[in-house]
Amino acid sequence: MAEEYSGCEQCGLCCKVFGDKITPTVDNIYSWIENGQHGILRFFHACLADGSWVRCDRLRPDDLSRVVLAEIRDPDTGGYLPVCPFLRRVGKHRYLCSVHDAKPDMCRNYEPWIWGETFFPRCRVLEKGGRACHPGSDRAHKW
Ligand code: SF4
Ligand code: SF4
Repeated sequence: MAEEYSGCEQCGLCCKVFGDKITPTVDNIYSWIENGQHGILRFFHACLADGSWVRCDRLRPDDLSRVVLAEIRDPDTGGYLPVCPFLRRVGKHRYLCSVHDAKPDMCRNYEPWIWGETFFPRCRVLEKGGRACHPGSDRAHKW
């Protein structure tokens, strides 16, 4: 793998492939609650210590300490989504994250070149021998 950095091409493929499996941290959920970001919260369901599932925009403050897992889900049915609802197509081959400033840590920290962890050989930049950050990464191009 080439060591030199080159920017994400914003093809959105990594988000399309992994975006339906996003699992936010409790800190992410806390931040969304604190900032009143109900449009994000409603797309996540949290499993509490007693095994019950609660849509994240319906969590009470004292529920947070009992969250053991949170998953991206359909806000109406609670079912799994086919693709991340926050991915926006803005061009023929260009996609952006519509919650870029509030994205989950999992997206913020994603690096497609980390072998054995988040390696994603279908990333266009890796195919070209470079490095990239996906639309959720702080190191991606700013848009
Ligand atoms: S990190 Fe790679 S796969 Fe993801 S959007 Fe950028 S170029 Fe596409
Ligand atoms: S970076 Fe944004 S669009 Fe991509 S998977 Fe994460 S939340 Fe979805």
